[in-house]
Amino acid sequence: MELVNFEVGPVQNNVYVVYDDTKECIIIDAPLGASIHLDKFIKENDLTVKSILITHSHWDHIGELYEIKQMTGADIYVHKDDAYRLESDKMRERLPIDIKNVSPDVLLKGGEELSFGKTKFRVVHTPGHTEGGVCFVFEEDRIVFTGDTLFAFSIGRTDFPGGNFDVLINSIKTKLLSLGDDFIVYPGHGEHTTIKNEKQHNPFIK
Ligand SMILES: [Zn+2]
Ligand SMILES: [Zn+2]
Repeated sequence: MELVNFEVGPVQNNVYVVYDDTKECIIIDAPLGASIHLDKFIKENDLTVKSILITHSHWDHIGELYEIKQMTGADIYVHKDDAYRLESDKMRERLPIDIKNVSPDVLLKGGEELSFGKTKFRVVHTPGHTEGGVCFVFEEDRIVFTGDTLFAFSIGRTDFPGGNFDVLINSIKTKLLSLGDDFIVYPGHGEHTTIKNEKQHNPFIK
């Protein structure tokens, strides 16, 4: 598989397009400013969007979810414990930005094996930053998309509603560090890293 990343929006979110030579793709997260880049990339590469996967439902990860759904017609996947925030979110409603409510198409529990084209991946539930945070694991390609659960040399905040520090650390240790040192980590914000790097240098988990 291959991937491309655009960094967009007021708090520098990563949006990822993951595709393979069948020309099918998935989109991971849907931040403000993403749709113009996605539209161009998808058209230029003649891709078909199979699904839109949301790592968690904080406003900065779903700012253009409505627009991207309209544009692609693809199903929206979100963990069942984070779905409520797509339809009503007090934090989002206080922002001076118009972010539309969206209904999810598929509710995840964690443990699902999903695919597009010839590429398989699995959903891992990693609560702690939010109740229903998930990571997407590409075992064969040794890649994991971690949203705001794990960053290069940092971890997600746990002071928002639904956050819990101990739960987050446990998710990272049991579900991510165990993947293998060679895994490349693509987070929701900032640079990519590796599991090995994080085990050695992340001050929250080493
Ligand atoms: Zn977040
Ligand atoms: Zn975020």
